[in-house]
Amino acid sequence: MAVSFITAQFGHETNTFVSKPTRVEDFRVGAPDAQFGSPSSIVRARKGTRTIHGGFIDSAESHGVSLTPILATFAQPGGMVEEAAYAEIKGTLIRRLRDAGASDGVLLDLHGAMVVEGIEDAEGDVIAAVREVAGAETPIVVTLDSHANVTAAMAQAADVIIGFDEYPHIDMYERGVEAVDIAVSVAAGEVRPTLAFQQLPLLTMPPRQYTKRDPMLSLLELAWAMEREPGVVNATISVGFPYSDIWDAGVSVAVTTDDDAELARRKVGELAQAFWEARDEFDVDLTPVSDVIDHVERHDAGLVVLADGSDNPGGGGPADGTVILRALVERDVQGATVAVIADAESARAAASAGVGATVTLDVGGKTDDLHGAPLPLTGYVRLVSDGRFEMQGPMGRGSIADYGVTVVFVVGGVEVILTEHRRQPYDAELLRSLGIEPARRRLIALKSAVHFRQTYQDIAERIFDADTPGVHRPKFDAYTYSNLRPGVYPLSPASPGLSFLPEGSA
Ligand SMILES: [Zn+2]
Repeated sequence: MAVSFITAQFGHETNTFVSKPTRVEDFRVGAPDAQFGSPSSIVRARKGTRTIHGGFIDSAESHGVSLTPILATFAQPGGMVEEAAYAEIKGTLIRRLRDAGASDGVLLDLHGAMVVEGIEDAEGDVIAAVREVAGAETPIVVTLDSHANVTAAMAQAADVIIGFDEYPHIDMYERGVEAVDIAVSVAAGEVRPTLAFQQLPLLTMPPRQYTKRDPMLSLLELAWAMEREPGVVNATISVGFPYSDIWDAGVSVAVTTDDDAELARRKVGELAQAFWEARDEFDVDLTPVSDVIDHVERHDAGLVVLADGSDNPGGGGPADGTVILRALVERDVQGATVAVIADAESARAAASAGVGATVTLDVGGKTDDLHGAPLPLTGYVRLVSDGRFEMQGPMGRGSIADYGVTVVFVVGGVEVILTEHRRQPYDAELLRSLGIEPARRRLIALKSAVHFRQTYQDIAERIFDADTPGVHRPKFDAYTYSNLRPGVYPLSPASPGLSFLPEGSA
């Protein structure tokens, strides 16, 4: 009989510093249909995309494996997931898993940093529930975002954990392919997955987690070298998500071997040690917005990108922060673009005024008091779009992005992209879809921490990380942790370090 796998995607990255909760409707937006997908709607929506499920589908096809995707949803990163939303989606997943009957493996496409009201480690809870239905003998292969806060409970319930290597996450598709490849060898009895896991007493912030430079590049090269050693199936580094204030937040490593617990433990120890030794290289430099404007005015050579990581919707930010926009308008910087301000009210008002109209709007700053006040601006409506385009960057290429009603609103030398939906502008195709060639701008301010580098790194002359306030500010000075375990560096500079860790081996 042909080998058959069941797959499910249930993802959220929870920023516990965001006050607005994540509700079941938010998960409906990220699903192929209102029922969180059926096997055919999931294949239709994900096949041909550079996503985990895109990789699952292609790899299964090439192995001649039959795949049954039973659920697919990913809500935009945001606040704590409501208990009822979680119960409904998890309940649907478990019911469909039971209905699907026996299989040769379950592939779970999870994020790894979902926090639910009353459940800190939602993925640990999901994998354990899947294990209960699937039984001890059915392999469970879990893919995770590199911002997963991996826990011992997750490592115990899963057979294999495969994290993204890259940040920007340009290797989602490859990790999906890898998951199926490994599951096929396990189903064939060629590999007996043996997983070791270790948590480090360490939090890091996004800008230095970028994987095309050190310290991350060298750490990844170490993991890749391990994966080429005989007996090693996968080596995963999770940089963790510091905006989830939970006991287990932070960096961890996991290594899967073929039936060699001692090798897995040794490799995990080597990776953990290398990461710990690099801990001081993760400190982030932020630049005041006025210094960046000075730089643009003085040098005027090539595109400068200003990353407003503090208001990154990809980590829970509202994407309606006005701090940078205000500074640009006050100095009337020429050739500047702000991508984006997620403000449904302003986008719709400008769209209904129509192309060519001059309107006065209270722009942005409407979600909370942390990202600057609404900014009254009079400007010109240059272009109105439905905000939909096919992504072209390596992250998710082929997927349709949907920003909702989108308006290019021009205020002096500054053009503001107003959007209906809260989405991270990490693909430069957004600007091109609106008639803006990014390389011809002097300054582009992006509501993105690192993902934008997948399409902007090569066209930007300089990139600065903005010193702005917000729920995704990449500095520890902005947060008070109350649930995080004690002794975590750099919050506790006198962290006892690795030797003091209980070994979270699973
Ligand atoms: Zn991530």
